[in-house]
Amino acid sequence: MKIICIGRNYADHAKELNNPLPTEPVFFLKPDTAYLPAGNDFYIPDFTQDLHYECEVVVKIKKVGKNIQEKFAPSYYDEISLGIDFTARDLQEQCKTKGLPWEKAKAFDNSAPMGAKFIPVSSLNLDDFRFTLKKNGEAVQNGHSADMIFSIDKIIAFVSQYITLKTGDLIFTGTPAGVGPVAIGDHLEGYIGEEKLLDLKIK
Ligand code: MG
Repeated sequence: MKIICIGRNYADHAKELNNPLPTEPVFFLKPDTAYLPAGNDFYIPDFTQDLHYECEVVVKIKKVGKNIQEKFAPSYYDEISLGIDFTARDLQEQCKTKGLPWEKAKAFDNSAPMGAKFIPVSSLNLDDFRFTLKKNGEAVQNGHSADMIFSIDKIIAFVSQYITLKTGDLIFTGTPAGVGPVAIGDHLEGYIGEEKLLDLKIK
């Protein structure tokens, strides 16, 4: 299983980090060792002083595919959930400044905690659903699927030109505005609509 993450997929988030809007999807990978199943606490690694949450809609791939046309992309997934793309923002800034890859800042162990369950896409309008991240009970990110610059189907078509998608792969589809730091003792909760999918304690 691999984790594919899309960067800068919401205009308001690109703006908050002073990044230009992408003309094609920006993607990077996290290894399977980044996956943190629900029910586990997250321990802040000691190599960062500025660890940020990024709450994202996550798509689970259900069959192998390469060079998938956008119109056929819906047959490659039928469930979504929420995950956190944890980012060592201080290390990422160093990497960006030097023009280096982001893995040190993005792909470390347990950097991709997942929601406790996936929900069927048939239960949603993919072009019109809201998701929320609460930190210590207060909403810090409010996302709307309509604000994605590149839709799930466009992402699948784009990425599968370069990388074969396999059953069980996870695609993190980018984060809306409102990213920020976490500290020991924080509690993160993620919702799609009213349904709570993610519950994570920071240690
Ligand atoms: Mg992200």
